[in-house]
Amino acid sequence: MDILFERIRLISPLESRDEIGYLWIRDGHIAHSSPEPPQTISDRTRRVRADGWIAAPGFVDMHVHLREPGQTHKETIATGTAAAANGGFTEIVCMPNTEPPLDSPMAIEYVQRRATGLVAVHICAAITLGRRGELLSPMHQLVESGAVMFSDDGSCVRSAELMRRAFEYVAPFDALLSQHCEEHSMTEGFDINEGAIAAKLGLRGYPSVAEDIIVARDILLSEYCGNRRYHVSHLSTRGAVRLVRLAKSWGLRVSAEVTPHHFTLTEDAADGFDTNAKMNPPLRTRADLEVIIEALADGTIDAIATDHAPHTREEKQQLFSHAPNGVIGLETAVGLTFTELYHKRRFSLSRVVELLSIGPRRVLGLPQPNLAAGSPATVSIVAIDEQWTVEPERFHSKSKNTPFIGWQLIGKPRFAFNRGMMWECQL
Ligand SMILES: [Zn+2]
Repeated sequence: MDILFERIRLISPLESRDEIGYLWIRDGHIAHSSPEPPQTISDRTRRVRADGWIAAPGFVDMHVHLREPGQTHKETIATGTAAAANGGFTEIVCMPNTEPPLDSPMAIEYVQRRATGLVAVHICAAITLGRRGELLSPMHQLVESGAVMFSDDGSCVRSAELMRRAFEYVAPFDALLSQHCEEHSMTEGFDINEGAIAAKLGLRGYPSVAEDIIVARDILLSEYCGNRRYHVSHLSTRGAVRLVRLAKSWGLRVSAEVTPHHFTLTEDAADGFDTNAKMNPPLRTRADLEVIIEALADGTIDAIATDHAPHTREEKQQLFSHAPNGVIGLETAVGLTFTELYHKRRFSLSRVVELLSIGPRRVLGLPQPNLAAGSPATVSIVAIDEQWTVEPERFHSKSKNTPFIGWQLIGKPRFAFNRGMMWECQL
C-alpha cells in the first residue's frame, strides 16, 4: 500500500485541522500530511486526484448486528465487516443478541478471533445472562475480555431494580451501560409508530412515550447510582431528546446515538406496507425528526450509529406483522449523513466528522486517531459532492433489506484505511 491523495481536504477537528493538502499513506502509516506536496515520492506510489474529497479520522459505527454466531444466513463477521469497510467505516461495535448471546468471555473471544480484517470489531456484551433480564452477566470479567459496553439490545432491561444493580455492579470499573429503551408492557406485538399511519393501515402502534419512560427511568437510576455512564441506543423520539438534553445540563454522563433512518424517514415510509420500513424503534413523526436534527446539530446527540440489522429476503417478504424488525445501514449511512445533514441541513463538515468519528469514540472511551504524519493510518475518505444511486446488488452485506433502494445520495465513501490495510469502496 502506497497511495498519495492530492488536493484532498483534511478534516480533523481534534487537531483543529481543516485544510486542503496532500495525504500520503504508505505501509499502513501516514507518511506525509500537509498543504505542501511531499518532496519525493517513489515510482510505485499511486497518485489520486482528490478534489472535492475529504479525509477524516476513521468512522465508527457503534451499533451493528453481525449475526454471528447463530444466524449466519443473515450476515457473518466477514460479510458484516466487509460491508462496514465498503461503507467507509474503520471500526464498529457489534451487538450481543447473537445465538448464543455475547454474555461470556468465550463468546467474546469467538468474535475477536474471527474479526481479523481492516474493520476493528469492538464488543458490546450483554447486561444480563442470555439477555433474559433475570441475572447480571459477569460484567467485570467481560470488560477484562475486551467488552467496551453493555446492552441487552433487542430487548430492554425491564426491571428497574435489576438495572439499578447493573449500575452499581459496574461502578468500580466505570463501564458503559447502554439501553434499548422500550417499556415492553406498552409495545406488545407492535408494527409501527402509534399514530395516523398505524390507524390508517390497521397496524399495532408503539407509542413514543414507551421509549421516553425508560430513558427517564435510566437517567434517574444512573444519577442515583453515582452518575454512572449511560448511553441511549437508537434514540427516536422528541421526548427522549428533551430528557437527554436535561440530563446533560445536570452534568450527568449520559449520551445518545441516532440512526440515519430516524433522521431521514418518518412513519409515512410504512404507508404501503413496505417491510423495509419496519424496525425497532419504529420510524416516528416529522415533529420527532425535526427535533432530532436540532439535537444532532447542537450536541445533544453524540453519535450517528446504523443499527445495521440484516434479515433475508424471505423473512422480509412476509406479511407486515410477521416480518422481523430491522434494516441494514452500513453501506448507506455515510451517503445519507452527507446528503441529509451536510448538503440539505448545512451542518459543518467538522460536525459531521464529530458525529461519525469523534463522538462515538468519546462515548466508548476509545483512543482518537489523527491525520498527522507518522501516525498509523485510521482514515475514512469520502467524495462529499459525488452523486450516486443506492444499488443493493453492490453491497457487501449478505442482506439487502434497506428502504433506500434507488435513492440518489450525495457523498460517497471512497477509501477506508485501518490496521495496515486499505479498502477501496465499491458502491
Ligand atoms: Zn435496539
